Amino acid sequence: MTESPLPLFEEIVRVSPPGDPHGDLSVLLDTACVIGGSIAGLLAARVLSDHARRVVVIEADEPLAPGGSRPGVPQDQQVHTLLPAGHLWLERWAPGITEEAQSRGASLVGPDQAVTAFDGVRQAPDGAGHHLLAIGRPLLEALIRDRVTSLPHVSVVRGRATGLQYVDDAVSAVEYAPAAEGGRGDGSTEVLEADFVVDAMGRSSRLSSWLRASGYTEPQLERLEAPINYATALFERPVTLAELATAGALGLFSPEYPSGGVSVAAANAIEDQQWLVMLMGYGASRPGRTIEEFRAACAGLPGVFSEATAGALTRDVVTYHQAESRRRHFTQASHFPARLVSVGDAVASFNPIYGQGMSSAALHASCLALYLGGEPDLGTAARRFFELQGVVVDAAWAVSAGGDAARLDAEKGTEVPDDVRQQRWAMEQITAATLLDGEVTRAFNDVTYMLRHPATLADPAVLARAVAATSRRP
Ligand SMILES: Cc1cc2nc3c(=O)[nH]c(=O)nc-3n(C[C@H](O)[C@H](O)[C@H](O)COP(=O)(O)OP(=O)(O)OC[C@H]3O[C@@H](n4cnc5c(N)ncnc54)[C@H](O)[C@@H]3O)c2cc1C
Repeated sequence: MTESPLPLFEEIVRVSPPGDPHGDLSVLLDTACVIGGSIAGLLAARVLSDHARRVVVIEADEPLAPGGSRPGVPQDQQVHTLLPAGHLWLERWAPGITEEAQSRGASLVGPDQAVTAFDGVRQAPDGAGHHLLAIGRPLLEALIRDRVTSLPHVSVVRGRATGLQYVDDAVSAVEYAPAAEGGRGDGSTEVLEADFVVDAMGRSSRLSSWLRASGYTEPQLERLEAPINYATALFERPVTLAELATAGALGLFSPEYPSGGVSVAAANAIEDQQWLVMLMGYGASRPGRTIEEFRAACAGLPGVFSEATAGALTRDVVTYHQAESRRRHFTQASHFPARLVSVGDAVASFNPIYGQGMSSAALHASCLALYLGGEPDLGTAARRFFELQGVVVDAAWAVSAGGDAARLDAEKGTEVPDDVRQQRWAMEQITAATLLDGEVTRAFNDVTYMLRHPATLADPAVLARAVAATSRRP
């Protein structure tokens, strides 16, 4: 019998941490190795630290200084808002990290200072009291890294992983080229023996080609065209967080709105008294590539965007293009080695506009905690882990890919089956009703904040309320 994803999702997101909060978790592993020391890899390392005598993170880049940039994470200069689901988990694994982030100038934006608006019309307040963490991505990564690597049995090795070794259809070691002082390695390869390996190599993970080369089934790659163009710049913010009416703004614009090609804009009050402002356009639309274009585009948007860009520039415009969303289907890989899992963007990287990436990584780590806490049979492939993770990926994909597929079909005039048309109509009703009815907003936000499964929006009561609200609309 197939398990229902809804209760599984609730279990993965649940408020109390999985396992024994008193630290008596079973130690199943001698050396666990995580390849990739970014958000997903660090959170996986935190989970593994409960179950392994030693955790080694292999990371190709030098540590990212707050405000700096590194080649392995080309998106690190773009806006990164942490959704409530990711924030909840982060705080559970690294208690006090929010306070530390705030003391470094990041903003925990509550409902009073957060605005989401469609074509300039503000969403009805959901009354839920959720908070978003507005912070520069380099600072957030540095805070997580400091917490995780301060654990006595977690260490980071600088080098580039180049392959895996196997014994009896289980991963047994990671091959890597160590980085020399101050740069690239000398071409030598070292081997780290490990009895559990996590691929956290991000969107361009090499795991599939390694598996293929060793005769295993690579996970099927699914792609969805979602051509997005980001432009992000930083500006001096003359007023403190407390003085701001809005500290986190998200503006979504329909093609009919005179936004100069901007489909989404965001303004976050972040550390060092700065505004981080992002403009996004789809397809051929590339708004704000120079600072002049950037300010001109903001001048045509609701007030907060021109306010946020009024101060002196503290970092020039940085652009980022991504052509598609991707996911890899691990549950369908028939011949897969034991003691190996994949997390974060290596598994699924979405249209970033939905802000799901880091929260997904946190929920993948939660799946890992549930899997290892269940004392699994480590002699066989980690199917249970991939099933749990599949629930999270499906949920995130339904939110981001659903919107992108609808937009693509509308652009191309594609005929869609009746059931898909009905689902999209229902989503349009719900989205429109978020401007009118706080209860509908709450159901919608719970899903987009990754706190509840998207199936909760299929509840007839939610749709009926949404339709009632939109039909009352003047
Ligand atoms: C434009 C943009 C905006 C985004 N905005 C948001 C947002 O608002 N909110 C949000 O939650 N998410 C956002 N995301 C998603 C977020 O960036 C990722 O989901 C998040 O960084 C988790 O990624 P990761 O750790 O899986 O991989 P990555 O961050 O891509 O890191 C992969 C790591 O693996 C290392 N690596 C790769 N290969 C090797 C190797 N062979 N050996 C050793 N190390 C290796 C790399 O150096 C890197 O450190 C955004 C993404 C983009 C593109």
